Amino acid sequence: MTATMSTGATRNLRNTWEETRTRIATAATKWGRLCDSVGLVAISKGHPASALRTVAGFGQRDFGENYLQEALPKIQQLADLSLTWHFTGQLQGNKTRTVAEHFAWVHTLDRERIAMRLNEQRPHYAPPLNVCLQVSLVDEPGKGGVPPEQVLALAQAVVKLPKLKLRGLMCIPPPRDTFEEQRALFEQLADCQRRLVDGGFALDTLSMGMTADLEAAIAAGATWVRIGTAIFGERLKKTDDVDETT
Ligand SMILES: *Cc1c(COP(=O)(O)O)cnc(C)c1O
Repeated sequence: MTATMSTGATRNLRNTWEETRTRIATAATKWGRLCDSVGLVAISKGHPASALRTVAGFGQRDFGENYLQEALPKIQQLADLSLTWHFTGQLQGNKTRTVAEHFAWVHTLDRERIAMRLNEQRPHYAPPLNVCLQVSLVDEPGKGGVPPEQVLALAQAVVKLPKLKLRGLMCIPPPRDTFEEQRALFEQLADCQRRLVDGGFALDTLSMGMTADLEAAIAAGATWVRIGTAIFGERLKKTDDVDETT
């Protein structure tokens, strides 16, 4: 039996999902971007499969998950919907096979060793795994990401791997109070990507912008915004920081 949501909960999700789409479209228009140049990854960690199924019913195709133990049952329960799954959590070496087998995108690649494992473990029947390199624009120990000065070397290693497709860069900047401060950080990621493109890399993706800063990310050129709270509401705090499956 499939769990379903009450009509009230469904109506609420429709409102929050549509409001999020409107925020994206409004920002895109304001900054001279085409609305469909900014994709929405619905970050669904901490929320049940029934909520994802409801949002998928509105037309949402891309979902992001951070914790494999939580993601796998959802992916299985929603297999009939042919959704596109994005891995947005921290990648550990012993988890790469599951990611390589079940996801279409990885937004958080930051080490060559992990890239090599994903490449080896990507099933032969699957298309190359789309990857973004996570860049740490601000030094935050334990948060993951490659420092900007090491991005080129990692990109050079990743493009050699046939079962990975390097699409672009990703960041999770620390909270900033003002739009201009948020935007300045996102512009750093965009600059970083421009340098790679000038160097011959064919990149088309900037994964940046969450509930609190999506407008600034779109102003700076985001092509994926990753939105959780604005769509699904608050989640349990614990799943933000801890992967309990270690
Ligand atoms: C949780 C998470 C998000 C969504 O954050 P919200 O503030 O809830 O929109 C986006 N990206 C990553 C990598 C996350 O872990």
